[in-house]
Amino acid sequence: MDHGLRRRRLVERLPELGVDAMYVTRLPNVRYLTGFTGSNGQLLLTAEEAVFFTDGRYGEQSRHEVEGVERVIYLDGAAPVVPEARSRGVGRLGFESGGVTFRSWEELRERADGIDLVPLGPEVERLRRVKDAAEVALIARAQEAADAAFERVVLGGGLREGLTERELALELEVAMRGAGAERPGFETIAAFGRNAAEPHHQPTDRPLARGDVVKVDFGAMVGGYHSDMTRTVAFGSPPSRLREVHETVAAAHRAGVDAVRDGVSTVEVDHAARSVIQEAGLGEAFPHGLGHGVGLEIHEDPFLRREHEDRLAAGMVVTIEPGVYLPGLGGVRIEDMVEVTADGCRAIPRSTKELVLL
Ligand code: ZN
Ligand code: ZN
Repeated sequence: MDHGLRRRRLVERLPELGVDAMYVTRLPNVRYLTGFTGSNGQLLLTAEEAVFFTDGRYGEQSRHEVEGVERVIYLDGAAPVVPEARSRGVGRLGFESGGVTFRSWEELRERADGIDLVPLGPEVERLRRVKDAAEVALIARAQEAADAAFERVVLGGGLREGLTERELALELEVAMRGAGAERPGFETIAAFGRNAAEPHHQPTDRPLARGDVVKVDFGAMVGGYHSDMTRTVAFGSPPSRLREVHETVAAAHRAGVDAVRDGVSTVEVDHAARSVIQEAGLGEAFPHGLGHGVGLEIHEDPFLRREHEDRLAAGMVVTIEPGVYLPGLGGVRIEDMVEVTADGCRAIPRSTKELVLL
């Protein structure tokens, strides 16, 4: 990871943004720009210098992780960004408006001491949209751990009568760690039968019974990067209506993937998949967007939705995840990450998307 290059790309934008320096406080952004993996760190970037702040818990860790950047270790309270900025002649200091709470904003303003504070948009997030090869490789490794867990726990005979949603979620998480994940990337969703009608069901003690659909949405983390995948299979023979729904969702998924390419509108991709579901008379049963970017955060730009148009570009990694949810019956979602390429996209997971009967 060339953190110096990333910082230079951000610094190039400072004149355009009308600031002398930028104060980065969102942790995924600090990590992106420095490599720091701890839970408290900030970064001050001027045209010439970069200053990293953390507290005493991370003094030693940041010495290894944060290279080519001056480090300031503070004992308590907030990072001494104002004196550090002032000593570098900063008059206008940009800060991440999406990275401060109301309280931290008030504290910063009280300490500003004559420095103009300028709210900035998601400037680092904009850089993070397109991944470099090393980032894609980490996402792919995270996905490999998830594929291995799916194959072992779900396809490999792990589904059994009486198994609870919480137990299945735990088994998937243990298997991902065993396959090289640092940890699960987010809270695993495991939903049986009617519970699959909730898009983001939280696992319960509901036991698995013959005829249930099994919907799992889970992912791993490797090197700070996430994976995200949803599969719907069946334990025994599912209701025939859900078999039809699975075919519709699978067709919508293919249509979405087929629409992905460099330069395409996100609204157009959403529409390509959504129209398949609408034509089947199930438009109302697909109540969420088609997908989202994946990287240092599980949900990040760009988002693929019905509205709020954005553009895909080669190197982005996004999910395509149509779903249909029928209260009282169950639901189906199929989710894969794809890497956008010049003329299409490349699927990252290897797991089957079929409605496998187990
Ligand atoms: Zn997911
Ligand atoms: Zn997702």
